[in-house]
Amino acid sequence: MTDPAQLPPHLRRIAQVFVDESMADSPLARRVRKRLAASTHAQVPWTVVPAGTDRVLFDQGDAQALYLKDYKGKFLRFCPGTRAYHCCAYRIIHIGENCPMACSYCILQAYFQDRVLKIWANQDDLFTQLADAFGADRTTRFRVGTGEFTDSLALEHLTGYSRDLVSFLNDHENVVLELKSKVVDLSWMDAAKRTDRVLPAWSLNAPFINEHEEFHVSTLTQRLKAARICAQAGFRVCLHFDPIIHFPGWREGYARTIDMIFDYLTPSQIAYMSLGSFRCMPQLTPIIADNFPQATYIYNEFVPGLDGKARLLRPLRLEQFAFMVNRLRGHGMNRQLYFCMESSEVWQQVLGYTPKDLGGLANHLMTRAFGAQRGKEPA
Ligand code: SF4
Repeated sequence: MTDPAQLPPHLRRIAQVFVDESMADSPLARRVRKRLAASTHAQVPWTVVPAGTDRVLFDQGDAQALYLKDYKGKFLRFCPGTRAYHCCAYRIIHIGENCPMACSYCILQAYFQDRVLKIWANQDDLFTQLADAFGADRTTRFRVGTGEFTDSLALEHLTGYSRDLVSFLNDHENVVLELKSKVVDLSWMDAAKRTDRVLPAWSLNAPFINEHEEFHVSTLTQRLKAARICAQAGFRVCLHFDPIIHFPGWREGYARTIDMIFDYLTPSQIAYMSLGSFRCMPQLTPIIADNFPQATYIYNEFVPGLDGKARLLRPLRLEQFAFMVNRLRGHGMNRQLYFCMESSEVWQQVLGYTPKDLGGLANHLMTRAFGAQRGKEPA
């Protein structure tokens, strides 16, 4: 049991809180203030900044700051996939930006160069926009997630944001929420009235990558134990092998993680699982080289993809995908598997079918998210 006064390891570098003046008395700000005050970080200074401040300046080495911001943009967005490849087409609920953890391959390094973790404190605006979108036609189904510009649960210990979202969505049965994370925080669980409308999700990788390229995150065992707790409570979980990295020993590494999964879960408890090869915008490579000199996988053989991102040569991707799919199928996985941002040719060569055969990837995942095929896998 965690000492309630101790922040989880990934939040212990927080050294300052900024709050927009107009948000200083918001429920979210009050909650963060109360939770920090009850923790070993009670002395962290709070600075109220003028209403509407877009960026706050904070530069204290490795330390991080929270900024509770009044966000003026759209809270519900489309996933920035590309038309060149099959995209899963889910919708993003934008709750904040940046992440307290540090994975060498993380795309967020290219987006956010500072150590300020932004949280949209104007939750009333968020819920108004979501109610308009989800309530307009209750027969339209939505598959949504928060883990695009941040980790869904990284700040949950202080903000309770996902728990608020789960509570709000209890009244919207046409929405399935995926909470994607690399840490363990299950404090949102008892807020869910319907276990079939929340999909707790964890990213997985080979043990070597988890140990050498992901920092301040939970271990694979911790993630899988958490997934089992969710499954035992009636939730279906999602797992994501993304990014799959080509490194010496990748076969043994990915085989080990795949085998571990089924020590904790059965295939029917997994709603879907993505496989995505490491992809990298050109401007991200020098940032990774700078921030994580040990990350030699960036010097692998890459080609520019149709989306402008560098990706591993196709024969190498196919080799990794085929190996992993074969192993996963050996454990009983089948149509839960999908590729993130790959062409029909790759699907056909590895899986033997294309998204079109599934009625389109977005439709297929929507169906799986809502649980229509639970327990009976088509051949
Ligand atoms: S946990 Fe996710 S969002 Fe956070 S640094 Fe790692 S890859 Fe990026």
